[in-house]
Amino acid sequence: MGMFDYVRPAEPVECPSCGLDLFMFQTKDGGRDLRVIPESTLSQQGIRSFYELCPGCHGWIEFTADPPQARACTGSLMPERLVCREREPIPGYAMSFRAPEKP
Ligand SMILES: [Zn+2]
Repeated sequence: MGMFDYVRPAEPVECPSCGLDLFMFQTKDGGRDLRVIPESTLSQQGIRSFYELCPGCHGWIEFTADPPQARACTGSLMPERLVCREREPIPGYAMSFRAPEKP
C-alpha cells in the first residue's frame, strides 16, 4: 500500500555537487511498503534503480543497475545529466547526478 521502499547504502553516499552525505534513498522496484533495503541485498531483491533529491543542492542523484551508457565519465558537473563510473559508491550501480532546474 506504500509508495516506495528505502535503500540504505553501506556507506553514506557523498553528493558529487555539494558533498553532503546521503544516508537513505528511495526505490519503487520493491514491494513499495516502506521497508528499508540494505545495500547488500539490492540485487537479490531485484532493485534496478534508486534515487534521492539532495537536500543540500537540490540535485537529483540516481543509481541505476549497470546501464550500458554508464561506461564513461565526463569528469565535470554539467547542467545535463552526468553519469560517472569512475567513482562507484555502490558496486554494480552507476551513479548519475542532475543539477536542479534553473527557474
Ligand atoms: Zn548536493
